[in-house]
Amino acid sequence: MNRIETGEQYIESLRGRNLRIFLWGEPLNEPVDHPLVRPSINAVAETYDLAARDPELASAISPITGKRVNRFLHIAQSPAELVMQGKMQRKMGQNTGTCFQRCVGMDALNAIHSVTFEIDEEHGTDYHKRFLGFLEKMQAENLVIGGAMTDVKGDRSKPPHLQEDPDLHVHVVRRDDKGIFVRGAKAHQTGCINSHWLVIMPTVRLEPEASDYAVIGAIPVEAPGITYIYGRQSSDLRSMESGTMDKGNIRFAGQEALIIFDDVFIPWEHVFMDGEHAFASMLVDRFSCYHRRSYVCKSGVGDVLIGAAATIAAYNGVPLASHIRDKLVEMNHLNETIYGTGIAASYQGFPTKSGAYLPDTMLANVCKHHVTILPYTISRIAQDLAGGLMVTMPSEADLRNPETGDLIRKYLAANPEVDTEDRMKIMRLIENMCLGRNAVNYLTESVHGAGSPQAQRIQMYRQMHLPYRMGLAQRLAGIEDAARPDLSRPVDDIAEYFTRVFRPEGDQNARQ
Ligand code: SF4
Ligand code: FE
Repeated sequence: MNRIETGEQYIESLRGRNLRIFLWGEPLNEPVDHPLVRPSINAVAETYDLAARDPELASAISPITGKRVNRFLHIAQSPAELVMQGKMQRKMGQNTGTCFQRCVGMDALNAIHSVTFEIDEEHGTDYHKRFLGFLEKMQAENLVIGGAMTDVKGDRSKPPHLQEDPDLHVHVVRRDDKGIFVRGAKAHQTGCINSHWLVIMPTVRLEPEASDYAVIGAIPVEAPGITYIYGRQSSDLRSMESGTMDKGNIRFAGQEALIIFDDVFIPWEHVFMDGEHAFASMLVDRFSCYHRRSYVCKSGVGDVLIGAAATIAAYNGVPLASHIRDKLVEMNHLNETIYGTGIAASYQGFPTKSGAYLPDTMLANVCKHHVTILPYTISRIAQDLAGGLMVTMPSEADLRNPETGDLIRKYLAANPEVDTEDRMKIMRLIENMCLGRNAVNYLTESVHGAGSPQAQRIQMYRQMHLPYRMGLAQRLAGIEDAARPDLSRPVDDIAEYFTRVFRPEGDQNARQ
């Protein structure tokens, strides 16, 4: 494949791949021109066009080849480069108002870079070298990588190897001298059909008995044995309508699908973990850290919604009312809180052994946790400012109908300086982002993408250094025990701390 430089070339590269895709119960032979799929392809295409327009922001120099590569395929070499990832994501959110899908692959590549290095260090394997070979090819051709982590998981109380159906997490079913065969499914896979390659990764920490589930590998999207079942989105049928107005966002949308792997072959050169179960948790933690920080993307989408809210206030004729200004300030405050924590996580990044930089885990989790909450308030205020007409106004078809069009223009007029049609368009955009196709990624994905809220709480709990903070308080309060040996070194596990301090071994009543 020739190197892809532009969004148009990217779109062409997706044609004729003969993927096995199902949409609404029917096979979908060519997704590229399908009106429901195309907006999601347009969003990924923008990652190419942004790099062409603004290479400083959306590309970087690869340490592997010394050449300029798209930043979505670059391994961050410093905190400054992590920060640039975040700035690029905000800009992409601003330009598309949706999920542009390419960050999952970026975060997967960055995580796998350091994890393969550390597996090799312990096991004498050559995964890192294989991975670098793969990465070089991706960078040279400028391809889109879909990061495929989330297994369907089955009974949540059981680990992969104890499920009734062993296929509920992706696992290796066979090995031969040429490679491995994997079976299972990955759910809600962002941008998978718009990718050129998928990188599968484990989704949970794994016991030794689950080592067949400890697999990382790269698979071409068109590999035999893969089935894609397209995910529905609220109001997705509007993309099939002839007009543009009711779509809300006239160009862009996200994409998720269920991917089923039916004994899909991966040659050894594209296998980057096979059985090293103890490293599954390192991979999951590092990928989550990158990806939770990547949710700064939502601050860019929030910029669009704030702009839409200010526009509708002006179109309604009340741009300067003090309560409107206050609500816009509130939206801004919440939006910048997301950005602030995400960008701070990147500024606090630190090097791993491979040289790849990893964001600060606590701040990355705080960023994502904000994202599970704050877009809902931003969305509520946008709906407040838009008014109820946003969900009750007639369709574009009624606006175009000569019998009703003039009535709609007359009775839905507000600010006399503004065309009624423009007022309707901006309300449709707000509807799209708060209730429609792009609410899927601005709201629900904000809750569950990169891990549901509880997953961030677990990480924050693990890293909150509570014993250290208790020591700070106890010392200042003059509590003598603050100096006892139990507090002389950091104890990150809070349960362990309470056991050691309050129930020391052999002295069960020490503190009573
Ligand atoms: Fe990127 Fe955000 Fe979409 Fe995740 S949700 S792929 S971080 S745009
Ligand atoms: Fe996501």
